[in-house]
Amino acid sequence: MKKVIDGKICNKKGLVSGFNCDIHGGYVEFKEPIQKSEVLCPSCGHPICPECACMEEGPATIDEAREYVASCESNAGYACCVNCGDYSVAFMLRFLKLKGCPIPPECEGFTQPKREALCYTTATVGALPNVDDIIRAAEEAFDKGTSGIIKIPDATGEIWAIPERHLKGWIVTICYPAEI
Ligand SMILES: [Zn+2]
Ligand SMILES: [Zn+2]
Repeated sequence: MKKVIDGKICNKKGLVSGFNCDIHGGYVEFKEPIQKSEVLCPSCGHPICPECACMEEGPATIDEAREYVASCESNAGYACCVNCGDYSVAFMLRFLKLKGCPIPPECEGFTQPKREALCYTTATVGALPNVDDIIRAAEEAFDKGTSGIIKIPDATGEIWAIPERHLKGWIVTICYPAEI
């Protein structure tokens, strides 16, 4: 996974003013220079593109911003990482900041609470001798707050863990991409 930002470094503190988005293919200028670490998707490390992450203008008021944050607990976030599909709260707050939108004051200093999830594997993944390690890798990534696809390298080929929000809570399905 690449963790590269080819944007201009504005000053010695490592602030970046924008980056070249390889998804829509254009330079994105942030509202104001921002710490490099806050530009990256918390799940996959791809720079968050405020243009691609959300087709809308973004919230104009604190109340609208709260709706964006609330969407992280639904089946589809109002904005999401175009690289991995993550729409966790940690992602959303970074997106709002990059977009220059208001951030609900109660979200300042947010840390992701632990989420419960049921893990399912397909029969093929379940039959692997290292299935426990694979499940552990998926759980660790999920615990960081990821809601996009978690990609787990394995000797037999890349394995995906796909978190989905259901009425009764999160379900993480672990499978080979070809099994979707
Ligand atoms: Zn991502
Ligand atoms: Zn973009």
